[in-house]
Amino acid sequence: MARSLVSRFLQPRPPYISGPTHPSRPTLCLRVHRTRTFSTSTRRHLMDTTGFTETQMTVREAVAALCSQFPDTYWREHDQNEQDPTDFHAALAKGGWLGIALPDSGLTLGALGMAGAQSVHANVYATQTLAKFGSKSQLHDIIPNIISGKWRVCFGVTEPNAGLDTLRLSTTATKQSDGSYRISGQKIWITAAQVARKMILLARTTPRDQVAKPSEGLSLFCIDLDRTKPGLDMRRIKKMGGRAVDANEIWFDNYEVPADTLIGNEGQGFRIVLHSMNAERCLLAGEALGLGYVALAKAAEYARTRVVFDRPIGQNQAIAHPLSDAYMRLEAAKLATYHAARMYDASRTDSSIAQDAVGVSANSAKYLAAEAAFTACERAVLTHGGMGYAVEFDVERYFRECLVPRIAPVSREMILNYISERVLRLPRSY
Ligand SMILES: Cc1cc2nc3c(=O)[nH]c(=O)nc-3n(C[C@H](O)[C@H](O)[C@H](O)COP(=O)(O)OP(=O)(O)OC[C@H]3O[C@@H](n4cnc5c(N)ncnc54)[C@H](O)[C@@H]3O)c2cc1C
Repeated sequence: MARSLVSRFLQPRPPYISGPTHPSRPTLCLRVHRTRTFSTSTRRHLMDTTGFTETQMTVREAVAALCSQFPDTYWREHDQNEQDPTDFHAALAKGGWLGIALPDSGLTLGALGMAGAQSVHANVYATQTLAKFGSKSQLHDIIPNIISGKWRVCFGVTEPNAGLDTLRLSTTATKQSDGSYRISGQKIWITAAQVARKMILLARTTPRDQVAKPSEGLSLFCIDLDRTKPGLDMRRIKKMGGRAVDANEIWFDNYEVPADTLIGNEGQGFRIVLHSMNAERCLLAGEALGLGYVALAKAAEYARTRVVFDRPIGQNQAIAHPLSDAYMRLEAAKLATYHAARMYDASRTDSSIAQDAVGVSANSAKYLAAEAAFTACERAVLTHGGMGYAVEFDVERYFRECLVPRIAPVSREMILNYISERVLRLPRSY
């Protein structure tokens, strides 16, 4: 049986002997030996946890134990096969982790990997709006099914013709005489819609030209995604990374939803959705950090063990220094992320914390973590040389995935615009 590149790497042949392992098959040979000068044991966690509370450590260790049941090989296969990580979602639900950000649970959770995180994160952040603004029956009927893993949730905001200018979204929810709504329009990039039972949907209930401000007249709904009903269609988008998790275009054509799907008051949807956006930014920051640290750990391991020119490549400062720099960027972004998550949590009970301040810290954390993850993932690929391009070493997958937090849920450019305007009080540029 053909051995994988990784197993060849981990069970090196005698040093400096290279050449095909099978006569008929060209091989990518690695000149590897275990040096006594440098430790080859990877520290289990690169991220410094000094100062973490006992609760944070307990959560971190419990989630890490669960995630370790889903190793790189699991994500590699699911990515290659574009196969939903259903059992991972089920395991997190079984462990009770999907309720992590709901009241009494707290948001200050470390990172899951990116594709895995994407498969569950709407269940965590989108439920924030329901928990805060939902009716008693929504709290009673929907949230327990999300936490138990029975129902999955997706978040429907982005539209092809509005882009980041969310207030220009044109999907409409038109009220009928019996109180129900008919939804028409198109959403795009909706993660996990193929497997979701519910969608948290933002749609316009009053035309933009009939409201005092464009942020008014939008409403938030928690609807069933029922493809057996008329007026709903979706198509999976082929994408670069995180392929285990589906992303979709969705078309609504007079799709009927009952009156009780409305979350909070009609016309207040944008204000409500802002509430979940800060949670989403904190989560994305945590996800990006997780990816950055795992990429860096792999890079360091490789740099310790790969020998070229008779020395481990990590002995060259051109390899070592970019990795040290990537570590410090991740650590700085980690502090920003935990600060934002703490502010978000505290703002729920402490009215002296302005939502604007939470917004600034959550956006800053997302930006810094996404950039730090990108740096770490890119350098992990480069540290691996040619092997960085091989699927079996996983860093190419991390690199593909690390672009997501730079683009979504809000782009780098829009965060820079936000800080320019809200913090530096510079003129709005758009
Ligand atoms: C993998 C993935 C998963 C996603 N999942 C979801 C989901 O579940 N639900 C959902 O609703 N959406 C989702 N999205 C959508 C995501 O939130 C959007 O792609 C993102 O907000 C960017 O919007 P856009 O693609 O329309 O970019 P555009 O608005 O078209 O912008 C394109 C580029 O122009 C820049 N730009 C635009 N205007 C300005 C300006 N004024 N100043 C400076 N730069 C500007 C942007 O920063 C960006 O770089 C997902 C996207 C991806 C890639």
